[in-house]
Amino acid sequence: MVAKNLATMKLKQMAATLCVFQSWRYVQEKNIAEDVLVPALKYTVSVHGSWMAREAILVLGGNGIIMDFSILPRLMNDNIINETWEGTHNILGDHVMKALRRPKLRDAFFRELDSFDAGAEQFPQLEAAIRYYRDRKQQLKEYARDSGSKEKNLFEMNILPMVDFLYETFSIGLFLREAVCDLRKNDDTFFLFLQAYLEILNRKADQMVSADQVFSRMDKLEKIINY
Ligand SMILES: Cc1cc2nc3c(=O)[nH]c(=O)nc-3n(C[C@H](O)[C@H](O)[C@H](O)COP(=O)(O)OP(=O)(O)OC[C@H]3O[C@@H](n4cnc5c(N)ncnc54)[C@H](O)[C@@H]3O)c2cc1C
Repeated sequence: MVAKNLATMKLKQMAATLCVFQSWRYVQEKNIAEDVLVPALKYTVSVHGSWMAREAILVLGGNGIIMDFSILPRLMNDNIINETWEGTHNILGDHVMKALRRPKLRDAFFRELDSFDAGAEQFPQLEAAIRYYRDRKQQLKEYARDSGSKEKNLFEMNILPMVDFLYETFSIGLFLREAVCDLRKNDDTFFLFLQAYLEILNRKADQMVSADQVFSRMDKLEKIINY
């Protein structure tokens, strides 16, 4: 059971790291896709940080909560500051939508998403992941394109779910790109991470892990945790 928690934390941390490194690259290269990505990451990665600190506290049981046992309670408090001081969730969500409404920024961002699955088709084992990724990309494109025509209240209610969806799609794209890179070298490490990450994203609260999933195999979970 603890392996499930640790592997989930590791994969979410990997997703955040991949996205943050990619955003630094955009900043360095003056790629305007950063105008969409950076506010989206300020919100999503800091939310994941708070979740991660809480999860780490719970993994340690009672010790996790005691402040002189570890720095985790302090980290949890610091994370909530991270969720606020660069702008609250709503404000950052608004920044993402403003950027997506500008055609030049929107096109730059989607060009990046379109580049992540390049060359993926040569690996049949990626077929399901490619289909899923492209389907999400299409939904995101349609949402971004049509957002200006939506009724104001409905539109505002959906800003943060849309940014969550954008973050998940972007991070799937990066896992996919890494998987292609690995498979070219006959290494299936990131293919495993991609499969497990998709299982997390698709797992609803009441859904059980099935025997054909990565999360049913302890050897695979150990590979993720020890990476
Ligand atoms: C430890 C710490 C250090 C800080 N350091 C700095 C610093 O160095 N420099 C600096 O400039 N600031 C700093 N800040 C301030 C920080 O940037 C603000 O706290 C933050 O931007 C939120 O603004 P606020 O506190 O006025 O909240 P408010 O804007 O009053 O927000 C309250 C609630 O209303 C919502 N809300 C507000 N406006 C809207 C809107 N238009 N649409 C939808 N919802 C909305 C928010 O999402 C939030 O839920 C710091 C804050 C903290 C906690």
